[in-house]
Amino acid sequence: MKQKIPNTFGLTVFAQNVVTVTSPEQLQQVWQDNYQNLPIMIIGEGSNTLFTCDFDGIIIVNRIKGITISETEQAWHLKVGAGETWHDLVSTTIKQNIPGLENLALIPGCVGSAPIQNIGAYGVEFQKVADYVELLELATGKIITVTDGQYGYRESIFKKEYLQGYAVINVGIKLPKQWQPVLTYGELRNFDPKIVTAKMIFDKVCEIRCSKLPDPKVLGNGGSFFKNPVIDKIVADKLLEIYPNMPIYPQANHQTKLAAGWLIDQCGLKSYQIGGAAVHQQQALVLVNKDQATAQDVVELARHIKKCVLQKFSVNLSPEIRFIGNSGEIDADNYL
Ligand SMILES: Cc1cc2nc3c(=O)[nH]c(=O)nc-3n(C[C@H](O)[C@H](O)[C@H](O)COP(=O)(O)OP(=O)(O)OC[C@H]3O[C@@H](n4cnc5c(N)ncnc54)[C@H](O)[C@@H]3O)c2cc1C
Repeated sequence: MKQKIPNTFGLTVFAQNVVTVTSPEQLQQVWQDNYQNLPIMIIGEGSNTLFTCDFDGIIIVNRIKGITISETEQAWHLKVGAGETWHDLVSTTIKQNIPGLENLALIPGCVGSAPIQNIGAYGVEFQKVADYVELLELATGKIITVTDGQYGYRESIFKKEYLQGYAVINVGIKLPKQWQPVLTYGELRNFDPKIVTAKMIFDKVCEIRCSKLPDPKVLGNGGSFFKNPVIDKIVADKLLEIYPNMPIYPQANHQTKLAAGWLIDQCGLKSYQIGGAAVHQQQALVLVNKDQATAQDVVELARHIKKCVLQKFSVNLSPEIRFIGNSGEIDADNYL
């Protein structure tokens, strides 16, 4: 009998089988027993994936656990099982007075997914704390340690060279003892850098996120649906002449990052609904499962948003969420 795939959008989508694994050996066994006959996909919590239809294969849910902490004079070194919950890891470090992960509190998902997407929030990205990523090469059982993740904005080598046939099994994190708070974002700017503690930042980030973002357990969603578009500075400056209030974030190489949520909001799309899927009423970048949405409702809504933003601003939105078809990942840009 088909089994329901865990996903924070709360979509009712099925796979031939959903298997939870707790060790690399188990993971490889499931892969070897099945890869010749069926598509296989590894997930953490399904908080960054949109299953556009049922999956004609096996979903492996990674629950490889374990947190080991060691220290040198300069830094704490963490080795974390890929199936640990990211926020639990952040809480654990804060409780143990180990600063460095506080800005990344409350991001849903598993530790193994953090390097893949190079998760980021409140001025910090995973790459800042990345030490190494341990991959299991599924065809051979060989363990490969990658120290250069080639990280970018929601990008990494794990979405390219290591996309197929590899599983993240452990993640190494390095947190320098010479801690510098990152207070560049929003309300965090109000803290005095001389007296702020990691716990204060952690609490504030949790507070802001709880007030702004819908809890997937209450209202299904996948976080930011689109990436913030990065465009040529000359084009951004022209847009600024028409929309002087448009938020901009200057980047290297004459590029400018725009706020996708602001663009969507300016199209009047907050609360806009197609079928059971809607644009969140407070946070336009988040699409929610308001009323038993189907995957196609979400896709149609995303298509409509993309079209409206393109018409109004001539800016192309690209999904941050990864789209999954019946046998694996599909090109989200082409699909919309
Ligand atoms: C409410 C909400 C808020 C969010 N806020 C943020 C935010 O502030 N910043 C941010 O960056 N993201 C955010 N996200 C997105 C999401 O939390 C992250 O992308 C997270 O890292 C996804 O983790 P996951 O375990 O759920 O990944 P999944 O959705 O399960 O998987 C994501 C991709 O990684 C692959 N994968 C997962 N585990 C493995 C593994 N062990 N080996 C190989 N491949 C694997 C999957 O095949 C899939 O392609 C948010 C999401 C939600 C729902």
